Amino acid sequence: MITNVKLIRKESIAESTMAFYFAKPAGFDFRAGQSVDYTLLDPPETDEEGNKRTFTLMHAPYEPELVAAMRMRDTAFKRTWKDLPIGTEIKLDGPYGDFTLHNTTSTPAVFIIGGIGVTPVRSMIAQATHDKTAHQITLLHASRTPAELPLKADFERLAKDNPNFSYISVASDSAPDDWPGERGRIDAEMVKKYVPDLNRPIYYLSGPPGMVKAMRQLLVDLQVNEDSIRTEEFSGY
Ligand SMILES: Cc1cc2nc3c(=O)[nH]c(=O)nc-3n(C[C@H](O)[C@H](O)[C@H](O)COP(=O)(O)OP(=O)(O)OC[C@H]3O[C@@H](n4cnc5c(N)ncnc54)[C@H](O)[C@@H]3O)c2cc1C
Repeated sequence: MITNVKLIRKESIAESTMAFYFAKPAGFDFRAGQSVDYTLLDPPETDEEGNKRTFTLMHAPYEPELVAAMRMRDTAFKRTWKDLPIGTEIKLDGPYGDFTLHNTTSTPAVFIIGGIGVTPVRSMIAQATHDKTAHQITLLHASRTPAELPLKADFERLAKDNPNFSYISVASDSAPDDWPGERGRIDAEMVKKYVPDLNRPIYYLSGPPGMVKAMRQLLVDLQVNEDSIRTEEFSGY
């Protein structure tokens, strides 16, 4: 579908990370984990990267709004996007992609995610929780510091609502003494600690390409079958 969508709300969801809420157009259907292309209409500035970006639909299909969350960087597109007045219309084209949760509920899902790569995961886990599916779901979500970790409260709420979902937050660089999550980079020991049978799950990796490649290599080194690894690279980071 190609249509215009209207901005209705924006909020900070972590250090340098914001979420933008749009009214969902009538008849717009998508699967949890898919993304759309947004084009700024007549922006006040532009650069050689252009006025179009791909962002994942962070909220699940059952939720009322379309939500894009992104790391705010100093690019022409994001300077314009950050200051968009409420009510502004943006062109949307989508949905696209097949980074979606597998159907076989007896096969566990393990998400190993860096920073903003968590947007499709938020949608998939919220939808699975809403539908009360039987998937065993584990999320290892890393950022450098707790302040940079998006959606911690959302995942803590989902873990309360969904007895099959385990949420492990990871601070890779530094964290206060009372930090309840893991510390340090996600490595083989950390994965083995939370995934008892390494060959049962389907693994989902998403985020900046460097992180996705590193996590794929980590799993391959652990003898995980590559057919069981699904990835979404957020090109541009
Ligand atoms: C399927 C898919 C889903 C995606 N979903 C999301 C999502 O949900 N959320 C999200 O945030 N992104 C998502 N992305 C990435 C998104 O489309 C943009 O590419 C990304 O946000 C970068 O846009 P930008 O305006 O910051 O950089 P651009 O202006 O596009 O610049 C990109 C290039 O400039 C360089 N660059 C620009 N600024 C900096 C800087 N400050 N420091 C270092 N290098 C810089 C980068 O190295 C890169 O090569 C997704 C991408 C894909 C393909």
